[in-house]
Amino acid sequence: MTQIDIRMDANSLRGQLVAWRRDFHRHPELALQEHRSAGIIAEELRGLGYEVETEVADTGVVGLLQGSESGPVVMARFDMDALAVLEENETDYASENQGVMHACGHDGHMAIGLGVATLMARYRERLPGTVKLVFQPGEEGARGAPLMVEAGVLENPRPDVVLAAHIWNELPVGTVDVTSGGVMAAADKWVCRVQGRGGHGAMPHLAVDPIVAASHIVTGLQTVVSRCVSPLETAVVTVGSFRGGDAFNVIPDYVDLSGTIRTYDEHVRGDVVRRMRQVIEQVAAAHGASADLQVEHLTPAVVNDPEVVRRVRAAAEAVVGAEVVTSGQRTMGSEDAAYFTREVPGCYFFLGSAKPEKGLDAPHHNPRFDFDEDVLPAGVAVITAAILDTG
Ligand SMILES: [Zn+2]
Ligand SMILES: [Zn+2]
Repeated sequence: MTQIDIRMDANSLRGQLVAWRRDFHRHPELALQEHRSAGIIAEELRGLGYEVETEVADTGVVGLLQGSESGPVVMARFDMDALAVLEENETDYASENQGVMHACGHDGHMAIGLGVATLMARYRERLPGTVKLVFQPGEEGARGAPLMVEAGVLENPRPDVVLAAHIWNELPVGTVDVTSGGVMAAADKWVCRVQGRGGHGAMPHLAVDPIVAASHIVTGLQTVVSRCVSPLETAVVTVGSFRGGDAFNVIPDYVDLSGTIRTYDEHVRGDVVRRMRQVIEQVAAAHGASADLQVEHLTPAVVNDPEVVRRVRAAAEAVVGAEVVTSGQRTMGSEDAAYFTREVPGCYFFLGSAKPEKGLDAPHHNPRFDFDEDVLPAGVAVITAAILDTG
């Protein structure tokens, strides 16, 4: 079987891939509530001869297919959840679930996953090991991946390689980006209460004003990345909320701040948190107030394994052509696939899906998000070839 066959076979599935994708798009489901989607996926996998496990971390589905020989286990992951977004597209496949929308492309991921399942079943005789297709719930901040890890998805059998891809509207359809090292950042949530002493708005000298102290903290935090992180490293510190006070003539008791930290490197992350703590505590103290920082680690960084990247790149070049396989796509967004790639050598890559001429280039999570469906057969071809070549 040559690589050309994979591309042709994937193209021949186009009608079915589009039908699956549009059906999922019409019926989007929020994180950890993907019951309908999971039901369809489980039924299709069973029909193709997969050994199927359902309700893995609530609504997750795992399909296992053993090849003719014993060999490595390759896991491919596809996420299933939609977002609480009111769709503004007027297509005939627009969301029928008011206020819920596949605005990140996970409808496409499920369709691609079923396409990969179809081809792997067809190529079973040539599969040099086992393929484990993991349909994951709750990627959008709902901890679906760590829940699946806790439920044992990385055991029985343990994968040797993990693959995952995202439909990506920052790249033109037809391109595939495979990048070594960090591609998605670690995400932390931080909160901080700036405690002052409330009082009369006309008598500030008798109070400790937390609004002024917190304002200086917000300004001070802007120096954490610009003055304390090496210019050759990457980090983001964002203040996302600033809440305090109810009345125009009252100095409130406290102000609550919250935000996010994004980094790739564990040391940089540690330095950023330490520096933030200094700024927050000491700027507050300078104003006679007090403050403490609490940090919750949400997701580690997605770091691709160089050897798996090399093999995925070779597979992608073989099926779509070297001229459209790029490198260098990294984002400060986060992805809970990191919980898989930190346990098992893996590659998380991007499937270009934008087509500006057709108006298909709205950003992810936007109410007008949509993508060029040519990405579906391309994604099936690349992931199928990558499974066969990395196994
Ligand atoms: Zn998303
Ligand atoms: Zn997504």
